[in-house]
Amino acid sequence: MSENNPRIRIFCPVCSSRFIPEDGKVQEGSVVTCPVCGQMLEVEKTDDGWTGERRDRLSDEEIRDRVGEFARIRGYVFNEMKSEIIDGLLSKRDRFGDFYCPCRLEHVTEYQCPCKPTRAGDVERLGRCHCGLFWKG
Ligand SMILES: [Zn+2]
Repeated sequence: MSENNPRIRIFCPVCSSRFIPEDGKVQEGSVVTCPVCGQMLEVEKTDDGWTGERRDRLSDEEIRDRVGEFARIRGYVFNEMKSEIIDGLLSKRDRFGDFYCPCRLEHVTEYQCPCKPTRAGDVERLGRCHCGLFWKG
């Protein structure tokens, strides 16, 4: 099943945004990247509209793909701190159930990596994100 309706918006369960897929087309089961947070999503149609299921949910690959895609979309770069921060994210998942920012004490949706302040432009303003995972290129 596919549709060509350009008004279709896909819901991202990580950052709670709705976005129009790049080519304006959606096919059930296809994989798209959320342009806001970098999450890779398998497209599904539900009674409420189109949604994205987190690909490889909670796996090591999921967060590696997400931060890589987010950096690619924004033009950010990593440095030698990356592996330590990824380890911190994996540890947060093991202890608190999702990929929360390793440098914050609150385990809430808005601090899932990439956290809301980072999505809102902290790297442009400050040169880096709170943790030092993403850096201005
Ligand atoms: Zn998202």
